[in-house]
Formats: sequence, structure tokens, C-alpha cells
Amino acid sequence: MNKKGIAVDGPAGAGKSTIVKIIAKELGINYVDSGSLYRTIAYCMKTNDIDVSDVLEMPEEELKVMLNAMDIKMEFSDGTQTNYLNGEALEDNVLRTEDISMMASKVSQNGEVRNKVTNICQDCAKVNDVIMEGRDITTVVMPNALLKVYLDADVTERAKRRIAQLKEKGQKAPKMEDMIADIEKRDKQDMNRDIAPLKKAEDAMVLDTTSLTIDEVVKFVISEYKNKKKNK
Ligand code: C5P
Repeated sequence: MNKKGIAVDGPAGAGKSTIVKIIAKELGINYVDSGSLYRTIAYCMKTNDIDVSDVLEMPEEELKVMLNAMDIKMEFSDGTQTNYLNGEALEDNVLRTEDISMMASKVSQNGEVRNKVTNICQDCAKVNDVIMEGRDITTVVMPNALLKVYLDADVTERAKRRIAQLKEKGQKAPKMEDMIADIEKRDKQDMNRDIAPLKKAEDAMVLDTTSLTIDEVVKFVISEYKNKKKNK
């Protein structure tokens, strides 16, 4: 099997999106944010007043019909992804709220939901080299990635980064202890679900970013990827 692309996994706030965005630009490849697709599904449910807990209890066939009715597409411009839901472009400020984060984490426990997102992501990685981030990219979505990276960081550091990110976007940030509790709850949900839980793939390079700068991580990943390409 031809190995291609870069797969990145890790818990919320480990720095994945910041780092992956820069690497994609430097390598001139598309950055695929799989989490935003779970967020898109959560957003669709929210705007249709559908309770996520009801979705988890729904008969498979009913859920399939509901998911089929959601036309989700990703488009890329200059390597940057925009998600479209039934033709409407979704901006970061509607997808990246704490409310949607928690709903996405819950709804991503469902196998049908995961199949839908996995198919969209795999189609996208089929043709071109991409760098994709999420929770099951190294293990399920891109098992043949040329480079697999697991980014981790201390939970307090992750909460600090998340708060800074929200503030930067002019959004309301929760208190530090609430942010830590939210992140720990999401980690628990993501790491303990039955299907495609977040875990370190055996062949992934593990990087703890707690005391590393963004630049250090970016340089390291790019040089590992270039080495792998050279030795392919
Ligand atoms: O990465 P992000 O925080 O935007 O992802 C939102 C949620 O989507 C995560 O908490 C996780 O539950 C889910 N997710 C997933 N698998 C992925 C990407 C995200 O289960 N590959």
C-alpha cells in the first residue's frame, strides 16, 4: 500500500490545529480538520432542535436517514478548509463554541456518525497528500499515513491554550477550573468510547508539547516527514 500524507491525533487543546495549519502552509498541502465535521453534525442537530442523547438512542435506520439528509461538503481554498452544510458555509465562530464542542464529542460516539465523517475524510485523502488531524486519524482514517504523530500536553496547559484561543476570537471564555473540567470530561468521552477511541497508534511518533514552542514542533514534524519521503 502506498503510504502518503500526515496523520495527527491527540486530545483537545494539545495544539493540533495551530501546528497542523502552519505545517500545511509550509508544505503546500491541504489541512483537513476532521473534528470540524463532527462539529458540523452537532451544529445541524442543534439548529434543528435535535437532542444529542436522543440521537444516541435512535434506531440505526432512522439515524441513517437523518444523516443522509445532511449534505456536508468540505472545500479548500489556499489549503484552508470550509465546511458546507446543505449549501451554507459554516464559519468558525458557530462551530467552535464550548456548547458545540461538548455536543460533537457526544455525537461522535455513534458508529453511523463516525462512518459518515470517516468516508468524507478518506475521500479527501485519497487523491492528494494532506495533513489531517483528529482523534482516530492515525488509527482508523489514515492507517497508511506516511507519518503519524500523536500530540499531547499537560491538561492545565491545554486549558490555558483553549482559553487564550477563545479570547483571541472575541468569544466568552470559561473560568480556568471549568475549562479543565470540560477538557477532562471530553478526554474521558473520547478515550473511553467503544468505537475508534482516541489512543496512541503503535507506529505514531509521540510529542509532548507542554514545554515546546510551536516552532519547535513544526520544524520537528516537517523534518520527520521529509525524511520519510526521502526514504520511501
Ligand atoms: O478536534 P475537535 O475538538 O474540533 O473535535 C471535536 C470533537 O469531535 C472531539 O472532542 C471528538 O469527540 C470528536 N472527534 C472524533 N474523531 C475525530 C475528530 C474529532 O471523535 N477524528
